[in-house]
Amino acid sequence: MRAILIIDMQNDFSDFGTLPVKKSLELANRISNLINSVKREQFKILASLDYHPINHVSFNQFPVHCVAKTKGSEHIEPLNNFDYDLIIKKGTKKNMDNFSCFYNGKRESKLKKYLTKNNITDIYVCGIALDICVEATIKDLIKNNYNVFLIEDLSIPLDLNYVLELDKLTKINSSKI
Ligand SMILES: [Zn+2]
Repeated sequence: MRAILIIDMQNDFSDFGTLPVKKSLELANRISNLINSVKREQFKILASLDYHPINHVSFNQFPVHCVAKTKGSEHIEPLNNFDYDLIIKKGTKKNMDNFSCFYNGKRESKLKKYLTKNNITDIYVCGIALDICVEATIKDLIKNNYNVFLIEDLSIPLDLNYVLELDKLTKINSSKI
């Protein structure tokens, strides 16, 4: 079984958010097109959300962003209208930050349990930011022996010069999915 994992496509990371990743509004439309084009019986659709309490430890390093239950933590339109198979929240513990959605606080998130239960072996990852949370999540997926595909045209780094190169990572264009 295959899954598409959409990382942190949230309002506070949009072009007009508190921690903006350039062109992510337009990216949301393109990811939405991909989800609408795949057969749901062949792909599970998973999404992660950065989801912090007020006074989260990461706000010492970054501007306040993705506070739980605020508009900023919600998916960018039109990705807020989907019926996801799983939503994974990370960074919900006050004193610990998580870049990889494999973990929430010190513990594993719901992700691995879900992948195991649904016999998912191949994971197609996209979203923002490629050089932070997408990269950290991909590294954990590879470490756990999943077949990982980076959907290159549907992922944007904060540092626009950044390129992700990893052994065992396959890069793919969304038109090939
Ligand atoms: Zn965060």
